[in-house]
Amino acid sequence: MIGSLALVLVVAGGIVLSVGAFRYVRSIELASLHTTINNRAKERAELVQTTVLRSMEVLNSVGSLFRTQGNVSRQRFRMFVNDALTGHPELQALGWTPRVWHEQRAELEEAARKDGYSNFSFTEIGASGEIEREADRDEYFPIYYLELDGKNRAAIGFDLNSNPVRRDALRLARDTAMPAATAPMRLIQESSDQLGFVVYEALYAKTSNDLNSRRANLVGYASAVFRFGDLLGPAMESLALEGLDVQILDEAAARPIIFASHSIAPAAINSSINGHAPVEIAGRRWTLILHPDTAFLAAQSTNQAVTILVGGLLLTALLAGFLYTGLRQMSEIERRVVDRTGELSREVAERKRAEEAARIAESKFRSIVENSVEGIFQTSSVGNYLSANRALARIYGYESPDQLIDAVANIAGQLYVDPSRRDAFIRQIQQSGEVSNFESQIYRKDGSVIWISENARVVRDSKGQVQYYEGTVVDITERKLAEQALRRGRDELEQRVEERTSELARSNEALQIEIAERTRAEETAASANRAKSEFLANMSHEIRTPMNAILGYAQLLRRDSTLRPAQSDAIKTILASGRHLIELIDDILDISKIEAGHTELNVTEVDLHGLLRDVAGMFRQKCEQRSLPFKIEGVGPEPLIVSGDDRKLRQVLINLMGNAVKFTDAGFVVLGLTCEGHDRYRFEVRDTGTGIPASALKGIFDPFQQASNSAGRGGTGLGLAIAKRHVNLMGGQLVCESQPGEGSRFHFTIHMQAVANRVQSNSIESEFEPGFVQLAKGTHVSAIVVDDIRENRVLLADMLGAVGCDVRACESGETAIEAIIQARPNIAFIDIMMPGIDGKETARRIIDACGRENICLVATSASALSHEQRSYQAAGFDDVIAKPLRCERVYLSISTLLGVRFEHAQRPETPESAQDCSLPANLRSRLREAAEICNITDLKRIVAEIEWLGPATKRLAEQLRGCVHRYDLPAISRLAAEIGESPAEEDERSVATA
Ligand code: ADP
Repeated sequence: MIGSLALVLVVAGGIVLSVGAFRYVRSIELASLHTTINNRAKERAELVQTTVLRSMEVLNSVGSLFRTQGNVSRQRFRMFVNDALTGHPELQALGWTPRVWHEQRAELEEAARKDGYSNFSFTEIGASGEIEREADRDEYFPIYYLELDGKNRAAIGFDLNSNPVRRDALRLARDTAMPAATAPMRLIQESSDQLGFVVYEALYAKTSNDLNSRRANLVGYASAVFRFGDLLGPAMESLALEGLDVQILDEAAARPIIFASHSIAPAAINSSINGHAPVEIAGRRWTLILHPDTAFLAAQSTNQAVTILVGGLLLTALLAGFLYTGLRQMSEIERRVVDRTGELSREVAERKRAEEAARIAESKFRSIVENSVEGIFQTSSVGNYLSANRALARIYGYESPDQLIDAVANIAGQLYVDPSRRDAFIRQIQQSGEVSNFESQIYRKDGSVIWISENARVVRDSKGQVQYYEGTVVDITERKLAEQALRRGRDELEQRVEERTSELARSNEALQIEIAERTRAEETAASANRAKSEFLANMSHEIRTPMNAILGYAQLLRRDSTLRPAQSDAIKTILASGRHLIELIDDILDISKIEAGHTELNVTEVDLHGLLRDVAGMFRQKCEQRSLPFKIEGVGPEPLIVSGDDRKLRQVLINLMGNAVKFTDAGFVVLGLTCEGHDRYRFEVRDTGTGIPASALKGIFDPFQQASNSAGRGGTGLGLAIAKRHVNLMGGQLVCESQPGEGSRFHFTIHMQAVANRVQSNSIESEFEPGFVQLAKGTHVSAIVVDDIRENRVLLADMLGAVGCDVRACESGETAIEAIIQARPNIAFIDIMMPGIDGKETARRIIDACGRENICLVATSASALSHEQRSYQAAGFDDVIAKPLRCERVYLSISTLLGVRFEHAQRPETPESAQDCSLPANLRSRLREAAEICNITDLKRIVAEIEWLGPATKRLAEQLRGCVHRYDLPAISRLAAEIGESPAEEDERSVATA
């Protein structure tokens, strides 16, 4: 801080001193310069004065001429003056001006005219500024003689008294009797811009000092005329070369500047400095001023001031730099001193802390050693204690460490129960430098024996010589005792485990025997089950084979239009009974499949509304026959397409509906569907029938379980068992609520994802009802039927022949392959189970021989197991038809696989024709009315209602729909008239709702 202040002071002082010295020297320099210029001005002023004074001598000589000679002729004057002017170039002219009284004017004017100035008269400057003849006055002072190298004509005659500037000088000269100069003025004879002045010297008739006498005796004036340029120019010429500009002022004059050299450019003139000198000229005082230019100043300048300033500043800078460096070094040293001092203080503090820490550590260590529960020792290599702590003394039974140290001089002999342990200790510690967990038995002071564990290390000096051993001792007697106890316990435990293991081995053996027995039993059960399944499959196959012929021929017989109604009914009964038998077999197969875990879902698109209508249709007629009102709820005419297993759902509903109708004698039966949202659908079948006894409710879903109410009503007790398992498979729970005497309610809810609404034909096969279709005209289908059983072979050939196919029948795979290679039919129906090569092998060979694309292969099988059906498809079959064969299924396969069209043959009159149908009275009258008033919307609704009434009215509904489609309303009226009316009570009970 002080250093910085000193630095600032030095710099400020240096600058102040430098500037002060500069200014002082500069002022001396300026004063000297000023003196030089003043002197130069004085020189010039004297030169001018001297020149004018020399001229004054000439003037005086002119005066003397007139004083001495009185009248001087013009000629004489001219001669005198011309001599005088020679050698005085500064003089422009010399003249003589007499004092002329008015009376003398004319005479003098005349005399002048005689002298050659022809028009001579006294003149003055008139009001117009022009020279003109002078007016009359008392006295005149005309320029009478003026010698000026002939340039004087204009001035001759001019009355000086008429001009104030001249008059002032005339009067001064008259009154002072001294030459008197005029103020600067333009001379009358002057033709250029140059100014000049005139010096007058008065001539008196009689000299006197008295003013009045002088005025009275005045006779005239000798005059010397000067042009400033001529007078001053030469005198000032050399100044311009030196760099000095001259100005001469007559400060008393109206136009004070009488001379200015203008030899130097104004910009170069230094106006701050100049030199003055007075010039005394015939009673006037002029001032001569010299202005130096920069070059003059430079020439005069010694530059001492600048040198001093620069030198001073440099010195200051050097001093400041030196001081600054010194200060820097000083502050660096100071900083280092401070740093070092800080370091030293820290070191001192650190050392103090370390000493304190060492002291604390030592006292802690001492405290640890003293208070340690472990014994701590230092022993010499010869076997005595060097130091010990209290804990060690306590462990060994001594009162103090000192007592122990004093008492034990030979550790090996006095302490160790086995003295060789000490040798082992010494060996080990010398080998590896340390021992750890070295366990030994020790005699305490009182002679008792304890176990100790030692950890120790050897301490050597710098030469590697052993100094002492140090370490710790722990009393491990308790642990040793515990270990012994533990070992004993473990031995006991091992013994017990051994005993238990041998016991377990024995029971394991017994278990193995039991498992083997059970496995054998399970294998027996499984083989029994397999035998059961085989039996069931074989039974199904064996029954289906004859049933195929029975049902097939019954279907073909229906084609016969010549049948009598009784015969037709008999055939219908054969068909119904046959189908019932097949259903029974299917049920038995189903339950065995379910139990074998072979059932799986076959998900397709299902029209729920269509499905429920179909199921309802199956039971409607039966209900009508039994005068049992039947209601279907939650089902509309539009399709409701979801993803689900159509067959299983249909089977469940048919079973529930079958039971409801079977067990209800009075009241009603309802089949209902409710959408619970999020694709969840609730199906319900309820009735007002017998109900189920509470005791039977629990086992109602077990196979072959029938309640007491089923007596005399037939059945197998399989339906609900199958239904429950199917519903479970579909993700639902079949629930039964029943009150004996009041009725039953079966319901379940399943999730079925909605599918984009598509119109689905729910009765494709019905298009191919036997007897009503045949191959379209011009369509040719050649088929081969392969079956080892004659009846089946002939039946299928008949079915195909009935619609116009060209059929050939073969009894074995081998013959069929030959026939196919030869005849190249469009389609082959091949039985699966055949002696020799079976159906699958036959198909493989046919495909190998003909190519996959050239023939369609259809498997016919009495096996209804779906996994088998899939294996047929894998073998190359395009379709699989289960036996007993149905005509419509066979025709559907041909149509689908070959893409051929069937057309309806002449339809025989059937009981379903309009004429044989009966309708409830109100439906019939609504139909008639709608037809009459052409209400197509109503007609469509009524036709839908008629269709829902059941299969009996289905054909009528189709007929009516065709009419509505064609707008053939008269035909509808006609049909309505032909339709019979249902009995009155049926009207009331029949409920058909959408
Ligand atoms: P099945 O009807 O062939 O006897 P199911 O398994 O279908 O076999 O029915 C088992 C039994 O449950 C029936 O025998 C009958 O005792 C009882 N049952 C089923 N449905 C009903 C019902 N709607 N009303 C009264 N009892 C019924």
